[in-house]
Amino acid sequence: MTVEAIRPSVETPPAILPILSHWIGGRPVEVLPEHTGPVYNPATGEVIARVPRGGAPEIEAAVAAAKAAFPAWRDTPLIARSQVFFAFRELAWKHREELAALITRDHGKTFADALVGVTRGIETVEYACGLPVHLAGMNTPNVASGVDAVTLRQPLGVVAAITPFNFPVMVPMWILPIALAAGNAVILKPSSHTPGATQLQAELWHEAGLPTGILNVVYGGREAVAAIVEHPDIKAIQFVGSTAVGRYVYEEGTKRGKRVGAFTSAKNAMVVLPDADLEMTADAAVASGYGSAGERCMAQTLVIAVGDTADRLRPLMLERIAKLKVGPGMDPGVDMGPIYTQDHRQSIIKWIDRGVEEGAELVVDGRPFVHPEHPDGFYLGVTLFDHVKPGMDIYNEEIFGPVLGIVRVGTYDEAINLVNGHKYANGTAIFTTDGGAARRYQLEVEVPMVGVNVPIPVPAGYLSFSGAKESALGDLPMRGEDGLRFFSRQKEVTIRWPEPGRRGALSLVFPSNS
Ligand code: NAD
Repeated sequence: MTVEAIRPSVETPPAILPILSHWIGGRPVEVLPEHTGPVYNPATGEVIARVPRGGAPEIEAAVAAAKAAFPAWRDTPLIARSQVFFAFRELAWKHREELAALITRDHGKTFADALVGVTRGIETVEYACGLPVHLAGMNTPNVASGVDAVTLRQPLGVVAAITPFNFPVMVPMWILPIALAAGNAVILKPSSHTPGATQLQAELWHEAGLPTGILNVVYGGREAVAAIVEHPDIKAIQFVGSTAVGRYVYEEGTKRGKRVGAFTSAKNAMVVLPDADLEMTADAAVASGYGSAGERCMAQTLVIAVGDTADRLRPLMLERIAKLKVGPGMDPGVDMGPIYTQDHRQSIIKWIDRGVEEGAELVVDGRPFVHPEHPDGFYLGVTLFDHVKPGMDIYNEEIFGPVLGIVRVGTYDEAINLVNGHKYANGTAIFTTDGGAARRYQLEVEVPMVGVNVPIPVPAGYLSFSGAKESALGDLPMRGEDGLRFFSRQKEVTIRWPEPGRRGALSLVFPSNS
């Protein structure tokens, strides 16, 4: 299939860069250069490829392919279906370094970090390999005299995943295996900023034996997302990205009767009690705040230090910050890569300016950093603020960059009130050697993912993942049992078979189960 089949051809300028393709009906769909946008290598600032800008026609084609393929996939015996996941798992593992290198190329994060993102995604594929067990329904004999009940779990049909730039493998691997295992046909609308690893994943699913049309990839932005939200044949959407876009997808999708789960922005805080192991805590704060240049929804970007902790912790953090190496993500020894786009880099600089205006103490300023060999790369150094206070914009809002803020409070109660009073609730952590205090925090904190001396408490791939408040919209977490519930519909079947002597007299009374 070529794009001419979807969009009428216009004059074709010569393609000087590789052009990525949508993936519809089991094949790449070529596009014309004028229907594409640039893909940057943030480490150098160069344009390295062109990515299609899809919209309603491409989504329509993808839905048609998915609808046509769905009945056979739904009816595929479970063992045969699970074989695809075993095969995909092997292929993803074999190509994990290639996937990671593509992530580093497009996103900028270090290769080591990208590689863990791939393997943490593979965990959910491994969960999906057990789909015959996970999809077992319920059988309840004798719900009434001679009557049994069976609960069936059936796929929804065509469903969609809309995913962010920062985890181009892990997030699709958290959604697709669950949606596919449940027997659905899927349309993936990934971020256009990090398309390289998406393209390879589509090819690997195909090679693993996923039938044609069961996974379709359409690149694009606002137009493609609107087409998904408005399409009557798309029954459910899982979205991962910013709260502003997630709210639009949730509100417009649910208005049209779709099931929508949106996993959105965050501002995570780690609480540090005076008895914490401060060497370990300083490692955790620096790693979590600056890893992946702060472009993680589970980054802890506020350190809420209780009592005199900040005075003792800050010098330990500064020691570590002084040793951090910023540079291209593929270079050995680099701790932090560039920011993913120049626009986002500028927005982070504005947030740092804002923190200074608001009166936070700028302890380390990442704004002036220029990489000596790559002056056009989208680099920033790391930034540390102290005396960040509730009410400041840099306290309230997600910056999504390497900017960490220390907040000083007097007591544990003040600390937990701050965490529970924040509009975002994605992940949090407590650092302490007091088991009782940690236990109390687990029970009292109103954030769904909690670490105890673990700064990035992303649950294992077979457990559920979710936020609350402005960090998630919708009822069910993604992945695991909850993910399967999201991507399936329960049906209750009540069964009676004729048996000699069981037939009573005709009665118009409502059926009793007694
Ligand atoms: P984003 O909201 O800009 O993009 C997410 C998706 O929506 C992408 O596919 C993008 O192409 C599309 N999109 C962007 N703008 C749109 C618009 N105006 N209309 C319709 N669609 C649009 O998010 P991002 O910048 O790619 O990712 C960073 C955000 O994602 C951060 O806020 C981060 O906290 C969040 N995030 C959350 C989680 C989580 O699990 N809660 C995980 C990763 C990232």
